[in-house]
Amino acid sequence: MLNIILFGAPGCGKGTQAVRLAEKYDLYHISTGEVIRSEISRGTELGKSMEGYISRGELAPDSIVVEMVRDYMRSHNDKGCIFDGFPRTTAQAEIFDTLLAEIGSKVDAMIFMDVPEEELVKRILLRGKDSGRADDASEDVIRNRIEVYRAQTAIVADHYTKQNKYFEVNGLGTMDEVFNRLSEVIDAQK
Ligand code: ADP
Repeated sequence: MLNIILFGAPGCGKGTQAVRLAEKYDLYHISTGEVIRSEISRGTELGKSMEGYISRGELAPDSIVVEMVRDYMRSHNDKGCIFDGFPRTTAQAEIFDTLLAEIGSKVDAMIFMDVPEEELVKRILLRGKDSGRADDASEDVIRNRIEVYRAQTAIVADHYTKQNKYFEVNGLGTMDEVFNRLSEVIDAQK
């Protein structure tokens, strides 16, 4: 049972690779960003409470995001999972470790996908043209998300480095090249 965290700045390619890796290794895939967007588009109370944060490019509150993941794990605990966009703060990582321990599980690896900032902005603006995501359309919001990533998220690497679970791959190159690099890291965990 493998639990893999795909880690990196907005636009690094986590979502694309997570879908392919989940299929190859027969794992579930949870993108907290997607769960949040779905709550918002369905107009739920939870969605309404998060809308403002997302549109400004800020993080949703830890307590809400952790509850979403806890909920997901209740019905998806028969095999491992690729976590995409979570945990995004040290507080989330700490609660996540406890949550997994409670169900007799653990994180196996966090894999950082390294992509330079200018490339990130370019990719997100391109994606924004057809994704319809409002937070992908404005360069100001994109830069803010990258800033938030630097200020609050990058440090989560330290948390898993301390547990000897942190790995890095080059996120530049073709999708297949990056996929193969990620696969090598995952194969080494089995
Ligand atoms: P990206 O990685 O391109 O920013 P995501 O779909 O992962 O796209 O996330 C979109 C937005 O959803 C984030 O900017 C943030 O506001 C919110 N979000 C997603 N995951 C989390 C999380 N774990 N904690 C807090 N906010 C989150």
